[in-house]
Amino acid sequence: MRKLNHNRALVLFSGGQDSSIALAWALDRFDHVETIGFDYGQRHAVELGARTKVRREIEDVFPHWGAKLGEDHRIAAKGLYEIGETAMTADVEIGMGDDNLPTTFVPGRNLVFLTLAAGLSYRRNIGVLVAGMCETDYSGYPDCREDALQRQTEAIRLGMETDIRLETPLMHISKAESWRMAEKLGGETAVEIINEHSHTCYRGVRSTRHEWGYGCGDCPACELRAKGWAEYRAG
Ligand code: ZN
Repeated sequence: MRKLNHNRALVLFSGGQDSSIALAWALDRFDHVETIGFDYGQRHAVELGARTKVRREIEDVFPHWGAKLGEDHRIAAKGLYEIGETAMTADVEIGMGDDNLPTTFVPGRNLVFLTLAAGLSYRRNIGVLVAGMCETDYSGYPDCREDALQRQTEAIRLGMETDIRLETPLMHISKAESWRMAEKLGGETAVEIINEHSHTCYRGVRSTRHEWGYGCGDCPACELRAKGWAEYRAG
C-alpha cells in the first residue's frame, strides 16, 4: 500500500465556474495544491485558456493562496474526441438525446478524468483529489453523481493500492450556494475573479458579457449559470 500525503491536493480544474470555486476551497484547506486539466478536443476549448487566467488572478490577488499553488498539468485525453458523437466534441446539436441525457454528455468522461488524475497524484505523492462535480441543479450527467465518483475512487484505491481520497465540496449545494462559498473563502474579490474569468458556455462564446459572466446566453450551461447567479444576487 502506497500512503500518499493528505495535506497535498490535486484539483480537477477545467476553468469552469465550479472547478474554480473548488480550487479556492482547496487552497483554503491544503498546504500544497496542484491543478490538472484535460484536453479532449472539447468544442469550448476556450475553457482551457480560462484555466491559466483564473490561476494567475488568484496568485496575484491572494498571495497566501498563490504561495500554496503548485504546478498545472495539462493532459491529453483525445480518445474521448475520437469516440465522438456528442455535442461537446462534435458538431451535434445541443439538446436532449434519445437516451434521455443531454447530447453534451460524454460517456465515461469524468471516470477517465478521475483515473488519470489519480495516476498523476500517485506519482506526485498527492493524497486528495478535489473536484467540482455537483448533483444539485443537476445537468443530467450520471458521472457527476457522488455515488459513481466515490465508487470509482474506491476502484482506484484498490487498483493502485493506495489511500487516495476524493473531495467534492460542491456536490450537494446549489449554484447560488456555491457562489456564497466562494464569497466566504475569498470575499467579493474571489467572486469577481471567478465570474469574470471562469468559462462555462458550451459554445465557447467570450464576446458577450452578461452580469453572470461571458457566454451565448441560451445553451444549457449558460442558462444554469445565469439562474445560479440571479439566485445568489437575490440573496
Ligand atoms: Zn452558452
